Amino acid sequence: MRVAFVGLGRMGWHMAGHLVGYDGVDEVAVYDTVRHLGQDWATENQGEAVESLKLAVSGASCVFSSLPADRELLAVRSEILEEIEVDTIWVDHSTTSARVARETAEQMSAVGAHFIDAPVSGGVDGARSGSLSVMAGGDPDAFSRAEPLIGSYASRVKYMGSSGAGQLTKMTNQICVVGLCQALAEGLDFATRAGLDVENVVEAMLQGSSTSWQMENRSDKMLGRDYDFGFSTTLMRKDIGLVLEEASDMNISLPVTSLVGQFLADVSSMGGSDWDWCSLMERQRRFSSDYSESHELQQ
Ligand code: NAD
Repeated sequence: MRVAFVGLGRMGWHMAGHLVGYDGVDEVAVYDTVRHLGQDWATENQGEAVESLKLAVSGASCVFSSLPADRELLAVRSEILEEIEVDTIWVDHSTTSARVARETAEQMSAVGAHFIDAPVSGGVDGARSGSLSVMAGGDPDAFSRAEPLIGSYASRVKYMGSSGAGQLTKMTNQICVVGLCQALAEGLDFATRAGLDVENVVEAMLQGSSTSWQMENRSDKMLGRDYDFGFSTTLMRKDIGLVLEEASDMNISLPVTSLVGQFLADVSSMGGSDWDWCSLMERQRRFSSDYSESHELQQ
């Protein structure tokens, strides 16, 4: 079977790599608008870098994508719709709006093909180690056919319902995680300013009630001020924007999500657009020291 992967960024690069030589996959064709990424990927992996989306999609039974946002998905969609063959399945791992996912599924169905919205959680480490969580929406039969291939880079693949359900699940994931990371930044900052041995504090908390994936995997980065990796502030702001738009349509209030979105805007204005979004820590350090300095002045 020939498959195609579109978008070789922080996530797609590794996901495409897991498909090479996977059960039933004979050829992997990759495409990214940044040309050298395809060439670099093909040097490291047994696959073919092609010059256009048309060449990537041609003859592929399954097309995978991992793109930044709605805008890029729409650009790819307009080309794919002209080239895709009947019964081909397009599995999109980008985080996008549920609306665009539903529209894309309808348009793919109109040309006899299938679209599965399948955003992921687990970060670049999960993509690298093939242990992502995937939340999928779309036609159940098409999902069942694609699921074994998705398993090449995921340890958990869940079918969530009709088109858009994958994206709505991912939005729920983001609502649940944003406050955790901000709380962790506040806790680490507090412990530092209290003069504690913060690594010891984290070790003490890891088995307690405040533990989290963020605490386990991000505390050392936040304490070491190492943000040059992972899931960018820009992309997290995009996800929060999608969540708030959906929440506004549903007339529900998400105060913490909204506030952390504003904090991430501060991180961007501090030059952190490309930093991993745990750089909320940097904002916490900056704003909390501004606060303590002004407090000292008033006294
Ligand atoms: P990224 O910006 O590193 O990668 C996106 C890639 O898509 C880039 O290489 C870009 O050149 C390529 N691209 C853009 N337009 C294209 C087009 N028209 N045709 C072909 N390629 C195109 O982003 P990422 O961090 O890999 O994230 C990808 C998606 O996964 C995003 O939607 C993000 O929200 C989601 N996600 C990322 C993480 C993470 O930790 N990075 C975690 C979970 C989900």
